[in-house]
Amino acid sequence: MKVDVIGLNKPKIVILGAGYGGIMTAVRLEKELKMDEAEVVLVNKHNYHYQSTWLHENAAGTLHHDKTRIPINDCINKSKTKFVQDTVVEVKPDEKRVILENGELSYDYLVVGLGFESETFGIKGLKEHAFSISNINTARMIREHIDYQFATYNNEPEKKDERLTLVVGGAGFTGIEFVGELANRVPQLCAEYDIPREKVRIYCVEAAPTALPGFDPELVEYAMNLLESKGVEFKIGTMIKECTPEGIVVEKDEKVEEIKAATVVWAAGVRGSGIVEESGFETMRGRVKVRKDMRDPNRDDVFIVGDCALIINEEINRPYPPTAQIAIQQAQTVARNLASLIRGEEALETFTPDLKGTVASLGEGEAIGVIMGDKKLFGKTASMMKKVIDNRYLYLLGGVPMVLKKGKLKMF
Ligand code: FAD
Repeated sequence: MKVDVIGLNKPKIVILGAGYGGIMTAVRLEKELKMDEAEVVLVNKHNYHYQSTWLHENAAGTLHHDKTRIPINDCINKSKTKFVQDTVVEVKPDEKRVILENGELSYDYLVVGLGFESETFGIKGLKEHAFSISNINTARMIREHIDYQFATYNNEPEKKDERLTLVVGGAGFTGIEFVGELANRVPQLCAEYDIPREKVRIYCVEAAPTALPGFDPELVEYAMNLLESKGVEFKIGTMIKECTPEGIVVEKDEKVEEIKAATVVWAAGVRGSGIVEESGFETMRGRVKVRKDMRDPNRDDVFIVGDCALIINEEINRPYPPTAQIAIQQAQTVARNLASLIRGEEALETFTPDLKGTVASLGEGEAIGVIMGDKKLFGKTASMMKKVIDNRYLYLLGGVPMVLKKGKLKMF
């Protein structure tokens, strides 16, 4: 089946992926373009957009995934954007074509926003035996798996304590946020399945010499003290050497230790979608080092947005970490630049991130963060700020109705 759309000589823009970068590009284009200026097609694997920044809550079971996902038709104006539900298999940039699982599309302009994948850095057994928080499906699987371990524990003649041992690989942003949710979820699970709390172990293993590398030390200390008070055991400066069906093997100061655990979640690395690399784009860990106007360095008709794009922070000459915050801002530049190209304007806008701050949640009602350059936030204030950030995104996506439907409205 050919899923092409007949464009009446209008330039055709195809957007791949309806994550933060892709869906915001589509929504902004609806505002930037007049009705007859271009034909816009948005392609996504599922018929819903999801907020990747909430997936750790879905994985821990503290937030239902239906809150995280939003039907794409609720985000776009169908008279302006055509939605194609399909899986992208390959991009053929030299032929201006996209191969889908069930057809193909041609384009005049392409926006690649296929997001991130887990990066295991070649650590033995991680791909095979560890979970990763990558999308709604993996988050749902982690939640179900943990529930199953707790449910099984009291039904075996010989109790297996490893069923109640949870290991999180990485104490970076995602790892810490996930551990925070687990620390809140475990007491609920213990009550539900009649398990003494002291039987459950939550380990957070980090190779770097500190948790949350790059964060302010005072905030890191706050986060670790809080999580430890909820029973999280940190293993900092500790390398995961291997993941096995039984658990993990770690090494610290040349001492090797095995931790038996039925649940290992790897949260220490991401890379751009493999499809970008496999389609012949020049990448570094799946990310294309884009031009200042967000286009591929070798192709004037291809924009890359979100986690598939690599942009350099020139102040420190290092890449910006991939974040939703940046993906959303990039989408606005990409939409404006597409409108300029379609109108034959040559000067395109340069993308410059306008970082508002970083806030990491530590479970319901608790967070840490830095906003406005150097203002530190702790506890309930930081948690409230996190919800404000989340609700602001929903407002940008679909106005007040979207905030009321999907927002986090319980602020305290
Ligand atoms: P994504 O949001 O990953 O979207 C990609 C889209 O492409 C998805 O809809 C996917 O279904 C679709 N897709 C993928 N492959 C295909 C295919 N082959 N065919 C069709 N469709 C496809 N960032 C922050 O700024 N703040 C935070 O607090 C924060 N917290 C995070 C917490 C967690 C647990 C995680 C995992 C990430 C967090 N991030 C945070 C990072 C942030 O989520 C990413 O940077 C952001 O999602 C990138 O947006 P994107 O549009 O590039 O990709």
